[in-house]
Formats: sequence, C-alpha cells, structure tokens
Amino acid sequence: MKKMRQKASKLYRARIIHSINADKACEFKDGALVIDSKGKILACGDYQEIKKSEFGKSKVVDKRGQLIIPGLVDCHLHLPQLDLRGKHGATLLGWLEKYIFPAEKAFASLRVADDLAKRFFKKLILNGTTTSAIYTTIHAKSTDHVFKVAKEAGVRAIIGKVMMDQNAPKDLIENTHESLKSSEELCAKWHGAASGRLMYAFTPRFAPTCSEYMLTEIGKLAHEYDAYIQSHIAETLAENKFVSERFPDYKDYTAVYEENGCLGPKTILGHAIHLNDDEMQRLAIRKARIAHCPTSNFFLKSGRMPIEKIEEHGITYGLGTDVGAGTSMSIFTTMRHADYIQPNITVTPVKAFYLATLGGAKTLSLSQLIGNFESGKAADFCVVDIRNIDPRYKLSELNLDEVLSLLMYRGSGGLVEESYVEGKKLDVDHLKIKGE
Ligand SMILES: [Zn+2]
Repeated sequence: MKKMRQKASKLYRARIIHSINADKACEFKDGALVIDSKGKILACGDYQEIKKSEFGKSKVVDKRGQLIIPGLVDCHLHLPQLDLRGKHGATLLGWLEKYIFPAEKAFASLRVADDLAKRFFKKLILNGTTTSAIYTTIHAKSTDHVFKVAKEAGVRAIIGKVMMDQNAPKDLIENTHESLKSSEELCAKWHGAASGRLMYAFTPRFAPTCSEYMLTEIGKLAHEYDAYIQSHIAETLAENKFVSERFPDYKDYTAVYEENGCLGPKTILGHAIHLNDDEMQRLAIRKARIAHCPTSNFFLKSGRMPIEKIEEHGITYGLGTDVGAGTSMSIFTTMRHADYIQPNITVTPVKAFYLATLGGAKTLSLSQLIGNFESGKAADFCVVDIRNIDPRYKLSELNLDEVLSLLMYRGSGGLVEESYVEGKKLDVDHLKIKGE
C-alpha cells in the first residue's frame, strides 16, 4: 500500500516559502512539497530530509531556481466588472451609476457572461489567484454559467448572484421572492460542488439595495445551507449617509446586517473603512470577516481602512482586489497598496504575504484546507520566477525578507509561471476564448 502511494505521489523540488502567521513565514531553500494523487499535501520540508523519508521515492518535478508559494487568495472581486478597470469616474455612488450598472445589465446575456467568465478565470489563474470570493450580477442564468466556467477552469471559488430589491436602476431591481428563490436554487446546486472547490455566497449588494425582509431571509438561508454571505460595508461616507437615511431605525450601518441575521463567521464584508469602535466590536463578536481592498480604495478615494483598529478588535481580514474598482487583478499589487495606503503604519512584507495566503484563507473560513503547506491540506500553490522581474536576480542569493519584499513591491502576474489547485496544474488554453 505504502509503495503504491509513493509511486503515485509527486515531489516538487524548489525554494519553498509559506506563512505560519502574520509575523512569521517559513522557508526551505532547497525544499520539497510532496503531493498525493488526490492533490493532498503529504509533506513539506527540506529536500534532503524528505528524500530520506518514506516519501523519498516520489516522482520528482524539478523546479530548482524557482519559488513555490501557496496559491493567492482574493477575498473580494466582481467578475462582470473585468473590463471596467481604470475607468475614471467619480465617487463610489457616481461610478456605480455611470459605468457599473450599465455593464451589469449587459451580463444578462449568456454570450456576454461566457466571454467575461472565461477571460476572468484565465486572468485569475495567470495572476496566481487560486481561491477567490466573486460577485456576479442579479442574473441567475448567467451566474449558473459562471459556476460552470469556474468548474472547467479548475479554480477554487466562492461565487454569488447579486441581490437587489430596492434602490437600484429599473432593470436591475428584482422581485424579492424571485431573488431569494433563484439564489437558493443556485446555492442548492453549487455549494460544495466540484468536490467542494465551488461554494455559494448569498450576495446582497449592500444594505441600501436590500429590503429588511430580504436580508432576514438571506440570513436564514445562509445558515440553513452553511453557505456564505458577502456584501459591502462602510466604503464611503456618502454611502454611510445613504444607509442612515434609508434605515433610520438602526443605530448604525453594522446594525442593518446584524439585526437582520446576516453576520457570522461566513460573512465577508468588503471595505469596512468608516466604522465606529462599537461597530468594530460587534463585528468581532459575531466573527464577521473583512475583505480589505486598498487598490480600490485608492482608485475611488474612499479612504483608509484603519488596520490598527481592525486588528485591535481582533477582526479577521484578508485582501481583495475589488476588480473593477481595483485596477489590478494581481494580489501582489494589492499587497503593496495595503502598505502604501497606511501613512503611519507599516504593513511588512511578511504580513502582506500572510494576508495574501493564510490570512485570506482564514477570512474565507478555509484555513483548514488551504493557505499554507501543512500536511493534509489541499495542494493549492503557484510556481513563481523572480527572474521575470529582472533576469539578473538569483533566487539563491536573496534571503527570505528580500524575496518577500520583492514579491510585494515589484510583484505582478508576470512572475507566476504555473498555478495549481489540488495538485492539478491549471491550464488556461482549454477555456477556448473566442478571438484568442
Ligand atoms: Zn466590491
């Protein structure tokens, strides 16, 4: 039995870096990552040590000169907004009106959804993002199709159909019951599909576009299916004002989600910039998670997430590109922006690397499964070549801090040579994108 297992297992030999916690990364300069035939990690360690162990007979895949890191985790992005990146608009609410809502209307077409979904997942894979939490639009059929493309692409993803039953443009307002029914159907069909790689998130866009009745039902459904809820919170001051006008009976923005049963460990809230201490404390008590999206916050001039207070309250957070308000699909870009956006605090490379991998996994309640190379986890990883920054760089001449610093401040999708989910190399060519 043991022999058979060894035969089927693969050993990737490379420099290996993975995260232990926000202050510590672990590395093996001549490392080995051993993966079984089902894509589970059997061992991660020093190559010479592993060679002497029970895994020594595994088939070696030689990646020396390159770096293996855990697959990157993007906690917040909008698939239909792929082509809207870099459209200079105005503030959040103006930008939604001018660019986003018209594009979301077009997503009703399956042809549009198919083309966008294929290009979107291709870009994610090329950027080394193996797990992501994705918004689509209100359109159920198009969302169903996005799931199919995600399955074909081989990525790990939490996906949800946007829900809006008020305060949205005419063509994007749903009947409340229809919205709940089609969301539940999608959840029943896709939550846990593709051997658990695909998961469902009930996706009320943000409080103003949702009735209290719909929010309450979303809370119940998410609980019943053990599914996710993803939404936005306190991205701009104008939005906070809109919420207080729309929901005058609630003491603050957080209370709208809280009192309607939408906060829990599987709730992922984007932004969280303009919250008061009491709101942060309540988010922490409910164990709600935050997707921090600095690139988007720069672009829309939304403000700075008070990282020091979020941490003080013990709220778990990860990074999100927030495409399309985020202009880059690369989590490496988001890592450096997480530092740049804090004028008085340093987000170190080791911490940014944690947020991009294990911290992201914790934010999505997936750290038992992914985020680093502990034995038994799924082998979601990327092969990175820093010579793509400059061919004169020699990985062996750089220490751990220097490597992480390069990834953070000079990294891009161009560094990523290969992306793997559950030990399987993701192949973007089979997606068959029209015109390519
Ligand atoms: Zn967003």
